[in-house]
Parts: sequence; C-alpha cells; structure tokens
Amino acid sequence: MSLGHGRHYLAIPGPSVMPDRVLQAMHRAAPNIYRGELPEMMSGIVADLKAVARTDGNVAIYICNGHGAWEAALSNTMRRGDKILVLGTGRFCHGWGEMAEGLGIDIQTIDFGSRSDIDMARVAEALDADKDHTIKAVLAVHVDTSTSVRNDIAALRHTLDATGHPALLFSDNIASLACDAFEMDKWGVDLMVTGSQKGLMTPPGIAFVFFNEKADKARDRADLVSRYWDWRPRVEAEVFYRYFCGTAPTHHLYGLRTALDMIVHEEGLEAVWRRHSVLARAVWAALDGWGTSGTVEANIPNLTKRSHAVTTVNVGSGNGARLRDWMEQNYGVTLGIPLIGTDGGPENLEDYLRIGHMGHVSGHMVLGVLAGMQAGMSALQIPHNEGGLNAAMQVVAEAA
Ligand SMILES: *Cc1c(COP(=O)(O)O)cnc(C)c1O
Repeated sequence: MSLGHGRHYLAIPGPSVMPDRVLQAMHRAAPNIYRGELPEMMSGIVADLKAVARTDGNVAIYICNGHGAWEAALSNTMRRGDKILVLGTGRFCHGWGEMAEGLGIDIQTIDFGSRSDIDMARVAEALDADKDHTIKAVLAVHVDTSTSVRNDIAALRHTLDATGHPALLFSDNIASLACDAFEMDKWGVDLMVTGSQKGLMTPPGIAFVFFNEKADKARDRADLVSRYWDWRPRVEAEVFYRYFCGTAPTHHLYGLRTALDMIVHEEGLEAVWRRHSVLARAVWAALDGWGTSGTVEANIPNLTKRSHAVTTVNVGSGNGARLRDWMEQNYGVTLGIPLIGTDGGPENLEDYLRIGHMGHVSGHMVLGVLAGMQAGMSALQIPHNEGGLNAAMQVVAEAA
C-alpha cells in the first residue's frame, strides 16, 4: 500500500517548498500597477533583496528564470569576442559558459570534476598566464546544484587580487542565496545572479542580477545588450514599469514581499543560514551512519566543501533511481534526479539522487525525508547501517 496520501513534499533543489503565506499573498485580484500599494512596495523589496545579498550595490530584476539572469549578466558587461574564464565544478558553471558562447563570447574553461571545489592554484596559474588581461570575467558557481559542492568565493577574490588580475568576479548564487552564508561586498564579488525559486521561496519566474560600480563600468563598453535586457533603466527606476521594462510580475512581487518579510524581518538572515547549516549536517550525519556498512555516500567527500542547500548522494548499484521511485510512490516525498555525469562525471547516473533542503524547510521535514529514505532502503534491501537516522536526530537534538 502507499503512504503517500498526505501533503506531498517536493524535496528537490528548486523549485523549493513555498510557504503557505507566500501563496496566500499571491491570491488576490489584479492590483493597480500605476499607483498605490504595489508601486510603493518596490523600494522596500529592493532594500531587502540587497540585505539578503549583503550588498550596497545595485539590483536589476527580470521576469525570467536563472538562465535569463545568466544572459543578462553577460550581455550587460561583455563585448563580442571578449574572453571569460569558466570554473567548472558541475553542470551549472558549464551551463553559464555555454550561454556566453551563444552570445559570441570566447570561453576558457577549467574543469575541476564532479566531486571537488575550485582549486585556487589552478585559477592563479590561468590568470598569471593571461599577461595581456584578455580575460574580462571569472565565472564561478557558489553552490553547484548538480554536484552539491560549495565553492569558496572569498578565496577566489583573494586569488584574483594576489595575481593582480583586473577581471570581474561573477558568482552564481541561484541555489545558495538565503541558504549558505554569502557576503557580496565583503567578499569582493562584482556581480551575482540569483532566482526566486530556491532560497527565496517564491515561484520560479523572476531573477535578479546584483552588480557593483566596477561591473556597471563594464556596461559602458558592453556591446551585447539589447534595450530589454539593459540593467540601467531597471535600477532605481523613477516610474514603476521601468523596473521591468513593461508590466510588473504583480503576483510574484506580493509573494516575494512576504518571503523577504519571513527571511529578513522575522527569522533573520543569519538564523536562516544557521538553520540550513544544522539541517545539512543532519543529512550528512545520516549518510555517514548509513554508509558504514553500505555504499551510501555524499558526492562531496570534504565536509567543508558541501552545500547547505542540496546534497547529492551516491546510493550505489542503480539504487538512487529505485529509492527515488519508492519515496515518491510510497512515501509522499519527491527527491531530486541526478544531474552529474554530463561533464565527465560518473556514467552510472541511476546510482545517484539529490536531496533538496533549501528554503522553507524545518527539522521535521528533513528528518521525515531521512526516515523515509531509511525505510525505503530497508524495503528495497539496499545495504545500509541502521544508525543513520539516529545520527541525524542527534544533530537536531544538539542544535535545538
Ligand atoms: C537552478 C540553478 C540554475 C538554473 O536556474 P533556472 O531558473 O532553472 O534557469 C543555475 N545555476 C544554479 C546554481 C542553479 O541551482
């Protein structure tokens, strides 16, 4: 029989769980876009977005997904034929690089494989070799959602500074913003992209490009940007429609307003980071516990390099797919499909799954997922040690 007939939990790494309050905020008649509450909400939304990004810089908002923000970032800063350095630690940085190629940008890629983070020594080597400073930007992903690695963006800034290279530093925080600690200004990030549907707990459909003065200077020489994607009119717009170059995403803005209230004004951003950190450690404790007599393991071996928002798991022998199916059919939880393997990663994709633990996620949700995984492994006779769940509970007990 199936025990999946309660409230379903989509535990994939985005779109993430939306709070009922966010959904309720969106359930309303079409608002006036010319005056009143909605246009007046805008300056507060912009301020709170900057608070979440930890920046005093600018934010441009687009009606699109993360891929659109990738393209907006590149087109506002690059000229056709410019070169960028792509630091591949999974599917997503390569994806951003492919977007650049499509725009006529020349890409140089360093691939760090599917189980490790950026090796700063190799980055320094590539920057040192670029004597004429032809590399205009370095692209990194803070958390690569395919491998679940977390890159050290502050160290990347140190590497750029140590080599004296003037390239812009771009960070993709689509999976990490409001999950993993991030300090845009303190870490010297020139441009950061994110989307609404992961840590920001709002439906997919709006995306954000944060940028500082240095990135905005690059806009002067950029020749790839069209009027629609131009970030300048979207920043501190005097007329509401200019923020979006047309009709606003009215209902998304109401949802986002509520999500930002929850993150910035109620729980507090640093408490949000701490919650993600504890819940991630509970997931890892379970994996370690299960793994001692089986093959279950986190894809990223180094604990300090793991995302707090998503965990990619190797369950071995085709068991990732079997366990995912079991969880969805019998338990009311949908886990994430694997995305590694597309760029020199493992071939045996069926061995993998991903657990999303980002955004509106509590202790009982994560322990519920882990308990279900342990039940599923028992039901499917997947080799594992029973101690996993207890180890996760211990992490929760110690933190609470
Ligand atoms: C989800 C994600 C993307 C892609 O976002 P879309 O909204 O699907 O375009 C890009 N980068 C990272 C790190 C992501 O997690």
